[in-house]
Amino acid sequence: MTFKKPEKGFIEKYNRPYIIAGPCSAETEDQLIDTARQLASTGLVDLFRAGIWKPRTRPGTFEGIGAIGLEWMNSVKEETGLPLTVEVANKKHVEQALKHDIDVLWIGAKTTVNPFSVQELADSLKGTRAKIMIKNPINPSLSLWLGAIERLQAVGVEISAVIHRGFTEYGDKIYRHNPMWQIPIDLMMERPNLPIINDPSHICGNRTLLKDTAQKSLDLNFDGIMIEVHREPDAALSDAMQQVKPNVFENIIKDLVIRHEKRFDNSVEKDLISSRKKIDSLDSDIFSLVADRIEIIKSIGEYKKKNNISILQRGRWEELVNHSVIISKQLGLSLDFVQKILKIIHQESIDIQENILND
Ligand code: PEP
Ligand code: MN
Repeated sequence: MTFKKPEKGFIEKYNRPYIIAGPCSAETEDQLIDTARQLASTGLVDLFRAGIWKPRTRPGTFEGIGAIGLEWMNSVKEETGLPLTVEVANKKHVEQALKHDIDVLWIGAKTTVNPFSVQELADSLKGTRAKIMIKNPINPSLSLWLGAIERLQAVGVEISAVIHRGFTEYGDKIYRHNPMWQIPIDLMMERPNLPIINDPSHICGNRTLLKDTAQKSLDLNFDGIMIEVHREPDAALSDAMQQVKPNVFENIIKDLVIRHEKRFDNSVEKDLISSRKKIDSLDSDIFSLVADRIEIIKSIGEYKKKNNISILQRGRWEELVNHSVIISKQLGLSLDFVQKILKIIHQESIDIQENILND
């Protein structure tokens, strides 16, 4: 990927991704300045990040260095010229960050989730010239994310960007926070003019998946990337597993491929138009088959009602699951994908039969 320096103000729609980088937390003045110096020398960073107050899930872990870190941040700016961003979660954080001329404030996922906190932040930002970025809430709710945007817009605060950092899920999983890409995509549809940044560090929770996740976000037309970088990641006091060294950051960013949303080559456009027509027609076929299935589900629902039979027959569900294994093999589709679709269809069938039984 090649870079052009932005010509306009903060996160206007550039012709290249906007890059935010820096450690999860400011730990010592030396750690912060050394990491920033190395990052600045790559020439790839637009905004330097560090957490000063850390909302940790469990107590007894490093909860941030506090306001002294804001002074270290200013030393970073003096030395490297990089603009700065820190996380704020309450009125006191806002006052201190603004007093220290932090350029951009961000609202973290554990704050976006709470309308009281977001409203407190909005009230304390009213009338200031602060620039804000809003991370998605920890739970997969587009409404809460939009709600935070609306609370800040209602008091006239400039929202520079929203940040997609994934959603909390219970149990073992590939990602630390499930990206659930459909949610940021839905946000883009609702707010097409709001720049959106991907945070692969908090989505992945490890170093191996960072590059692919960042690339995927660019393929989905995200406007930028926020990535955690530490001079010595293994010794980091927070999020050690997901932070990378500055040289690794440089390789990840340089390897990213920027694709364009629209191709203006006429023949390519034509090829796409005809393929898209085929897709539209196949989508109609898929849903007309689903509609046929639902008609049968309705008649079975009537039968169950007349004979007082429960909706869920466990043996029957097992049969469907076993059948999905055969289907996935026969059609060369991933089992996970086939079963996800089956579960959605099955849930809709249960809902329809429930309505019939309780009518
Ligand atoms: C962070 O950026 O270090 C952070 C705490 O992120 P999140 O709010 O996404 O958990
Ligand atoms: Mn972090």
